Amino acid sequence: HNHIEHATPEKVQAAIDAQDIHAYIPSYETLEDYRAAGGYAELLNLRAKGDWEEVQATVAASGLRGLGGAGFPSGKKWGFVRAHPGPRYLAVNGDEGEPGTFKDRFYLESQPHGFLEGMLIAAWAVEAQRCFIYMRDEYPAVIEILRREIRALEDENLVDKGFVELRRGAGAYICGEESAMLESIEGKRGLPRHRPPFVAEVGLFGRPTLVHNVETLFWLSQIVREGHEVLSSTQKNGRTGLRSYSVSGRVRSPGVYLLPAGSTMRDIIEAAGGMLEGHVFKAYQPGGPSAGLLPASLSDIPMDFDQLQKHGTFIGSAAIVVLSDHDSARAAALNMLRFFEDESCGQCTPCRVGCEKAVKLMEADRWDTALLEELCQTMADASICGLGQAAPNPIRLTIRHFPDEI
Ligand code: SF4
Repeated sequence: HNHIEHATPEKVQAAIDAQDIHAYIPSYETLEDYRAAGGYAELLNLRAKGDWEEVQATVAASGLRGLGGAGFPSGKKWGFVRAHPGPRYLAVNGDEGEPGTFKDRFYLESQPHGFLEGMLIAAWAVEAQRCFIYMRDEYPAVIEILRREIRALEDENLVDKGFVELRRGAGAYICGEESAMLESIEGKRGLPRHRPPFVAEVGLFGRPTLVHNVETLFWLSQIVREGHEVLSSTQKNGRTGLRSYSVSGRVRSPGVYLLPAGSTMRDIIEAAGGMLEGHVFKAYQPGGPSAGLLPASLSDIPMDFDQLQKHGTFIGSAAIVVLSDHDSARAAALNMLRFFEDESCGQCTPCRVGCEKAVKLMEADRWDTALLEELCQTMADASICGLGQAAPNPIRLTIRHFPDEI
């Protein structure tokens, strides 16, 4: 929780008022600290005499999957990108915009070199010519830390000048979608692309591009240094590995909790200090607004990829928001759809018009569930990208689990 103590909203606001960014840079592991603990030795080894397929096999044995939300097996992507001739690029998705998600920020504000070394290992694995880090501008401390530490890496000749480029996002949620992110890095409006072709073939500036999330790269450096067991040795409820849950809402101690990937909501609430005084657990958002809401009665599901699918939802980036008997599921679902209405890029009709119509229908005293279901089906079937395809989830799950409220 260090970062939370260091950067309270009051401190951040005071620093912003004083236009003093340095006032709220948390203390973090510097390049010197990281190297003293053995950091970057593996990167140098790999560059000197490494075999990328061996590293890929270690990553596969660890079970590491993309931690931005999609959950794609991480090392597998490298083969797809390498299958196409260079020049190739690496783009890091640091646009942590899913409401309730703040795990990437936690790692970047505490151990930035764990992430940076992972990024350079992935760049080595696909022989990338350059790395672009697309960073959320709402994380000013992170941007300052990365600026400093990238410069430090250049000064110590661990990377060539200009090899790593830091790009600031401009606050659009849709730019967390990988192809919209690439458009934004290219200097265009962040509109998701049609696929195929996939970004592994035609990505940034038309070149084969590897895209990884920040936390995925953080774990990559740990796996390379300590072996696949760093993840694969943890087992719980039939699941392997660890998960960084961002926990907020009606719990005593909101924060980032690193727990076994098979943890249930019971375990997660317990880790976050239990429910707030006077609040009874009622519902939870398992993976950001795109995942909608599940009721407290479903609190024994292992909170991992795949497991939530049979309940019509997913874990995504593991943004857990806990609701209590003081909250309305209906109001929460409406809030989520208003968010999607705001953040839809407007490129396709089922999403642009669908979100707007859904909000109107959800504002009515009684929900016209038949019409809403029909609208949800159209949006899920016909939207170009994940935003419009997943926007129906809060509606469908509220109809299914909280019929008394609608
Ligand atoms: Fe844009 Fe929504 Fe269509 Fe995605 S689904 S491309 S966000 S309009």
